[in-house]
Amino acid sequence: MKPVNLYNYKIFINLFVSQYNVKEFFILEITFKGGCREVGRSGLLVNKEVLLDYGIKVGDPAEYPLNSMEPKTVLVSHGHLDHCGAVPNLMYQDPDVFMTPPTAEFTGLLGEDTLKISETTLSGVSPFDPEDLQKLRRITRKKHYGETFKTNGYRVCFYNAGHIPGASGIRLESDSGESLFYTGDFNLKETRLVPGAAEFPEADALVLESTYFGEEHLPREETEEKFIESVLDTLDRGGTALIPAFAIGRTQEILMLLDAHGIRTYVDGMGLEVYKILRKYPEYLKNPELLDRAFERAIAVKDSSGIQFLKSLRQLSLQPGC
Ligand SMILES: [Zn+2]
Repeated sequence: MKPVNLYNYKIFINLFVSQYNVKEFFILEITFKGGCREVGRSGLLVNKEVLLDYGIKVGDPAEYPLNSMEPKTVLVSHGHLDHCGAVPNLMYQDPDVFMTPPTAEFTGLLGEDTLKISETTLSGVSPFDPEDLQKLRRITRKKHYGETFKTNGYRVCFYNAGHIPGASGIRLESDSGESLFYTGDFNLKETRLVPGAAEFPEADALVLESTYFGEEHLPREETEEKFIESVLDTLDRGGTALIPAFAIGRTQEILMLLDAHGIRTYVDGMGLEVYKILRKYPEYLKNPELLDRAFERAIAVKDSSGIQFLKSLRQLSLQPGC
């Protein structure tokens, strides 16, 4: 693993007992194990005992957060590879693991994919084995948004973070009352798939994901409009639009958007598996009926016919409204 400069932040308050006697009152020690000035392999260790996220930075070879720790508890913000991908690697430590139900399912799905991919990539090394993944599935305790629970001397609660179904901001409070609110990716605005993030709770310290900090994005409506225009333009000229999309969240969002504009789609890949999972958790979706409609109208590309499908793309006519 490549050594990098990661910082060990001590967050403290000073109690001024008197003008001449200043005591430093240590409250939370936060160690970044990855995800600093980079996208991927998030991992934040609190007081050397609670780990928030443990992700993979995609590449060949993949990169992982630093280890050398013995967390008693692992809390996972959401089911994207850069936040949950390496959690099975921690199973030899026997931690308590908590996630929302969709995050637990996505973590399992991505774990299987990591095992599969590691067989074919150049490095060929998986950060965990199938037994680790099985154990993770067995020991993970699922908690819904707003359900406060206790673990190893901390009170924890997951808050809806928008972004993808099951994504959470995590509030952590020690027995002595010091608190932290940590977000993985979050989105305050609703999308077609999920509502926007809930109001964040108060806490002594705040750690925010800031991948897009300082970047101006077009308003969502404008982005959608441009995207649809481009697809329709392609179809009008007799072309076929091929849209690569991440399996968890993005595929479903794009399909709902295309369906809302009456554009019939073919869908392939892990996004179909994710849809099957999402059907079990309608309470984590903004509009389950519209998601169902988008997938019912879409045509699934079966593995066996995938090559044939790609060969025949030139003959396909995808017309709006058909
Ligand atoms: Zn994410």
